[in-house]
Amino acid sequence: MQKIDAHLHVELEGLDADRVIDYMDHHHIEKCWLLTWEEMTPPIDSIYRNLPPDEVFEAYDKHPDRIVPFYAPDPKTGNLSQKIKRHREKGLKGCGELKVTHKWEDRVIGDYLRVIDAHDLPLLFHMEEPRMHYVPANSGKLENLLDDLLNGALNGITKHYLTRFFKNTGVFKGHIENQLTPFPGYLYDFSNLEKRLRQLPDLDFIGHGPHFWNNISNDPSGVLIHDKGPIDSFGIIDRLLTRYENFYCDISGKSGFNALNRDRDMAKLFLEKHHAKILFGTDNTGLDYEGLIRSFHLPKDMMKKIFYENADGLISD
Ligand SMILES: [Zn+2]
Repeated sequence: MQKIDAHLHVELEGLDADRVIDYMDHHHIEKCWLLTWEEMTPPIDSIYRNLPPDEVFEAYDKHPDRIVPFYAPDPKTGNLSQKIKRHREKGLKGCGELKVTHKWEDRVIGDYLRVIDAHDLPLLFHMEEPRMHYVPANSGKLENLLDDLLNGALNGITKHYLTRFFKNTGVFKGHIENQLTPFPGYLYDFSNLEKRLRQLPDLDFIGHGPHFWNNISNDPSGVLIHDKGPIDSFGIIDRLLTRYENFYCDISGKSGFNALNRDRDMAKLFLEKHHAKILFGTDNTGLDYEGLIRSFHLPKDMMKKIFYENADGLISD
């Protein structure tokens, strides 16, 4: 079966341009969307990784038949339209990954979307909720341990209990408070996203990320980074995918993998219902998404859409 990996980065997790091609050959993936990450003023340096367009286009120039180049300039960029135009001439096919500390309601995002729409590019974006992030005071062992425990170990459980423990006992309290820095979240306001979907019906939106996928359920826990357990009823992403023709998603990242594994009966229903809106992608994780999708034994025409046709249909020549 033909496949497009609709969410991949170059120069991340050891994948340079040639290794991207090796990886695709090994997994029988025909094409991939290569995505950038650009934020001019990231609020917390340690969770940001600049993935510039030059590397994407370098890889594209080497392997133009295998790579579909994407670029999401920072919305604060001047001359956005010029920039997009210039990259369009070099072969740009989409805008992504837009992973920026803005909300959908921000005026700068409204302006940005209109430019992307005018250039007829699909938009792939990442959603993540605001939180307090622990920034280590130094590179010592204790600080490394706190960094791990307070920023994601055990899927967020240690953060939940340790924060409560520090608060109640007073141990480390002042120190922890000093080092906690607010992380404002990435494009997490669903209600304003819905307004944008209505405002720009010709612009195709492709969502992913922890906040996107936790909302496969109608009661996200707010404690875990990637929610676990049964899904009683579907949440907002089900409604948006049903209602808006211009709304899609990709299954990449731990978030998508987890969401389709936590309740397999509901995941199968979700895949069946939205097979024309879901894109296969891996996000350099090395997880077995192909095995996961195949394990649901969906009809062949649905699998073809998820593995190839949906992504292919979003790209214009
Ligand atoms: Zn992402």
